[in-house]
Amino acid sequence: MAADDLRPETIAISSGRPPHLAGEGINLPISLNSTFVAGGPISYGRFGNETWHPLEDAISALEEADSTLLFSSGMSAITAVFSLLPHGAPVVASHEGYSGTMSLLKRHHKDGRLEVRFVDITDTKEVISQLQGAAFLWVESPTNPGLGVADVAVIIGEAKKRNLGAGFDNTFATPMNQKPLTFGADVVMHSVTKYLAGHSDVILGSLSVKDPALYARLLDARTSFGATAGPFEAWLALRGIRTFPLRFEKAQSNAAVLAKNLASHSSVSNVRYPGFGAVVSFEIKGDAEAAERVCDGATLIVNATSLGGVESTWERRRRWELESQSIPENLIRLSVGCEHVEDLWADIDTALAKA
Ligand SMILES: *Cc1c(COP(=O)(O)O)cnc(C)c1O
Repeated sequence: MAADDLRPETIAISSGRPPHLAGEGINLPISLNSTFVAGGPISYGRFGNETWHPLEDAISALEEADSTLLFSSGMSAITAVFSLLPHGAPVVASHEGYSGTMSLLKRHHKDGRLEVRFVDITDTKEVISQLQGAAFLWVESPTNPGLGVADVAVIIGEAKKRNLGAGFDNTFATPMNQKPLTFGADVVMHSVTKYLAGHSDVILGSLSVKDPALYARLLDARTSFGATAGPFEAWLALRGIRTFPLRFEKAQSNAAVLAKNLASHSSVSNVRYPGFGAVVSFEIKGDAEAAERVCDGATLIVNATSLGGVESTWERRRRWELESQSIPENLIRLSVGCEHVEDLWADIDTALAKA
């Protein structure tokens, strides 16, 4: 069976394994080496690492990419993408998105490094009107934390028609729901920290591409900026990715149930759940303090930022100064994990009583 025919559960488990040879371990060892004997494929630890490659191959297979580059974090991966754009290049990007991306883009805009055209990425007409004369489209969908959904295939298609480059942050939806390279994106980024690694114990990022020339430019960016991942983190993420499809499916089905339950709870309003993924945002009928009491009032669910771990977490997003002012003060973002859904609902119900 060609690797192309395999399904995500099988890809995640079988890719990046050593050959089936007598006496060979079924897992690769962790390569803890800063330097290598001259004449081989890797000469120095900032240029490559044997523990990165199986993880990069697994992500490539899941995203239907030709190649993937592992980075020290999701943000260093995004930084590498924007570094390829010429000074002052016009970029179309969502005005609502991951706070780290938002502050990076705002800083580039302020410095004149890029001319960022912030748009409502869910408003297809507005996006298309801003593509005129732009160099690059950056898409995050669903958006964070409002969970708006862009018409992804249409806006990427329109960008490509106009010869723009297109990058996609696929951290929230994951390749279980959408594979942006298959509808024309040039580069797909992951915060591997989240669902792919899945255990809230590493910070890593990745970029996946089809075009070898783009791969070479991004590899050069990674090598020269030194945004290289630690081999142990890569190994943990490879171990994590083995169960990514299982975890994600469980978390996603839990999220659908919890979104429905939340929508009929008397202390809750404006539940946002796009119908896929494992993040649910909702508002508490009350003020910021009431939302904080709810986040502190659960036993299982941890009041913590981030998402994509096996354990459920939630937080009031506006506790972050960087969060967009358009996000309500009483909005809670829930990252649904893999616990039993009835235990989670009982925990949420108890916490909501504290609103
Ligand atoms: C976490 C996150 C990032 C940044 O990734 P890091 O691994 O924290 O650097 C970017 N985009 C989204 C959607 C994220 O959730």
